[in-house]
Amino acid sequence: LPDRYGNTGNSVWNEFTQLAIEYKPVHLAQGFPDFPAPQHVTKTLMEVANEDALLHQYTRGYGHPRLVNALSELYSNLIGRKIDAFSEILITCGAYEALFNCIEGHTKPGDEYIVIEPFFDSYEPTVRAAGGKTVYLPLRPKPNTSDWKGPTTSADWVLDPDELASKFNSKTKAIIVNSPLNPIGKVFTIDELTTIAHLCKKWNALCISDEVYEWITYKPSKHVRMASLPGMWERTITIGTAGKTFGVTGWKVGWAYGPANLMENLRTVHQNCVSSCNTPLQEAVARCLELEMTRMDSAKCIFKQNAAIYEPKRDFLVEALTQIGMKPIIPEGGYFIVADWSALENSVDLSKEPDQYKDYRFAKYLTKNAGLLGIPTSAFYSEPNKPLASTLIRFCFVKEEETLQKAAKILQDWR
Ligand code: PMP
Ligand code: GLN
Repeated sequence: LPDRYGNTGNSVWNEFTQLAIEYKPVHLAQGFPDFPAPQHVTKTLMEVANEDALLHQYTRGYGHPRLVNALSELYSNLIGRKIDAFSEILITCGAYEALFNCIEGHTKPGDEYIVIEPFFDSYEPTVRAAGGKTVYLPLRPKPNTSDWKGPTTSADWVLDPDELASKFNSKTKAIIVNSPLNPIGKVFTIDELTTIAHLCKKWNALCISDEVYEWITYKPSKHVRMASLPGMWERTITIGTAGKTFGVTGWKVGWAYGPANLMENLRTVHQNCVSSCNTPLQEAVARCLELEMTRMDSAKCIFKQNAAIYEPKRDFLVEALTQIGMKPIIPEGGYFIVADWSALENSVDLSKEPDQYKDYRFAKYLTKNAGLLGIPTSAFYSEPNKPLASTLIRFCFVKEEETLQKAAKILQDWR
């Protein structure tokens, strides 16, 4: 394997999916709903599959026309400018490919990418493989005050503005911002995004805005699109996915949008890698988006319904974790709860797990001894900062009520 891929071996996803197969625990690890997608979504795919023979053949490489048109209509309204369907949007194999194309298509040797920690784990190997360098910037719980009992919501995790400014320099190619943030669920405020935007403009840097959880925020948090901020359209590439929005992570229909001169770089990588993405799923996503655009203000619109369905699940798991002494960080958005388990440290024997990091040992202990699978949060930190997550575990809460009940029972009995 070329050096640029490093020697990190298995990703946390491969390692923990294997544990799930071996131990058959209650699976709150990888982020996907274990309940059916909305019926109209799966029905649309069935209709597409049986309708037109040509929908099973190649479509336009940079994106199926009906889908790029639907996305153009949706985001033009949200961003407040006309987004050209054919030069400013690219359809990709999930948000993963969009991230890959974006980084691969912009990196020259020595280029720096500022990555906010904790971060979605694919950013680091992708920047490295492209020949770039990652520069890390951890979010930190707000500083202690005498009556402060520890972070309780993801809004308590903030960037230090001076530390943020100190990471930008003439080598900075881009900052990667993920809001809502996987894993802790932070939804960046307009003020926080404006501070980042100001630095991007000052240093002529790009912003890669990973907004895959754009339609999953819990009140009162509100998702703000970086590309809608003044002077940011021309330097922002925004990434999205139907997987999260429609609860169909296996469809792997993602996209990137931004100004044509930047999108050209992503298109080149895409063209030489996958050339085009599958047609029937793009057609189905287009039809689903068209439907949602007819009912944007209705409670039935999936853009609103996701949070309405997920919020009670979030609250249920927060309660179950709190009851056994863990300290969950209540997420403002997304699929996941990160919880601090340090209060349980004396009741677990982690000595049998050989892993270097304590949170990996705990996650494996919990799987093997209690039958509950979560993701060790240090997977979302750079090597030097992994100790910041040594007592944190991530659980996915977009699961069937029955699955969450089982998880709660396991936690109660285990204590
Ligand atoms: N970015 C983030 C923050 C994610 O959590 C994920 C995975 N769910 C992705 C990108 C990749 O999305 P996709 O499954 O559409 O490739
Ligand atoms: N994004 C999902 C998560 O964070 C899954 C990522 C993956 O399977 N590679 O759980």
